[in-house]
Amino acid sequence: MVEVAMVVEAVLRVRLGGMNTWIDAHAHLPLDVEVGLPVERVVNICVDHRDLGGLEAQRDWYRGLVRGDGRRWGWVTSFSLDGFGSTGWADREVARLDADLAAGACGVKVWKNVGMELKDDAGNWVFVDDARFSPVFEFLAGRRAKLLMHQAEPIAAWLPLDPGNPHFGYYSTASKWHWHGRTDVPSHAHLIAARDHIIERYPEMTVIGLHLGSQEHDLPAVEERLARWENYHVDTAARLGDLAVACHNDRDGLIRFFERWKDRVLWGVDWVLTQPLGTLPVEKQGGVVQGLLRHYEVERKFFATDETQRIAGREVRGLALPESVLAPLTRGNALRLYFPGG
Ligand SMILES: [Zn+2]
Repeated sequence: MVEVAMVVEAVLRVRLGGMNTWIDAHAHLPLDVEVGLPVERVVNICVDHRDLGGLEAQRDWYRGLVRGDGRRWGWVTSFSLDGFGSTGWADREVARLDADLAAGACGVKVWKNVGMELKDDAGNWVFVDDARFSPVFEFLAGRRAKLLMHQAEPIAAWLPLDPGNPHFGYYSTASKWHWHGRTDVPSHAHLIAARDHIIERYPEMTVIGLHLGSQEHDLPAVEERLARWENYHVDTAARLGDLAVACHNDRDGLIRFFERWKDRVLWGVDWVLTQPLGTLPVEKQGGVVQGLLRHYEVERKFFATDETQRIAGREVRGLALPESVLAPLTRGNALRLYFPGG
């Protein structure tokens, strides 16, 4: 197993030079096999999602990696919605989060199942600003914990399928999340407003809006929130396509966005491995790692060089961000937020 991965490493190491100080601030990578990643550190994020192995399994994988090498790996935990609304739910989840934070978790994620899936016993949608979550958020605010929020799909989920949209491939296959034409579901604006209430309600808690705060189609709206709330940050995870569109439309404007908000934006990739690498058949492991490494290279070229690549169906010239912007984006902000011990 190890040899397969090491071969991949040997082949790609030369091409992937230049990322060895980068921190991937958003990953789901249970890499129980040494693969020689080109980045210095990775932050793995638990999601309350069965397709990713379930919350308990992710806790075990990611906590184990941090125990093995806490400089290389970071770990963000999450809470379960099982039994939400019943007596004892909040106390139980707070106790678990308390234990996870004590065990080195550097943040807590709340996923889009809050707002886009969860309904109470009366059949009403439950949003993230619902009072039943308050004990959890009050606990996290008291601990000055980082809250990573992903409360809405991209706006494309509410729009007709469009082959020119960077999320076309996803929504043409993941119809569960494509809500265009439905009248029985919340709006994107409602989900964002509920998220905004949490940022505002707990100014002592650092909030990271994942996926450009689910406003990847509207960077001025992201900027407006970054300007309004000092405790708000965003990451770029899985939004390279949207950034490529923004770059294609107004490259200078996108460079100015990253320059202006260099201390508030974290780079991350959101590469997903649904089970530990070592549990995959040996012959598949190399391909999985190759895919990740190739993607890292696309990201590096986009942010750090002015090379032209085809992304999201467009020819896009890289941003060639200066080191003064690249360093906080790809390292400094993640170090400060997720590796406070250095
Ligand atoms: Zn993710």
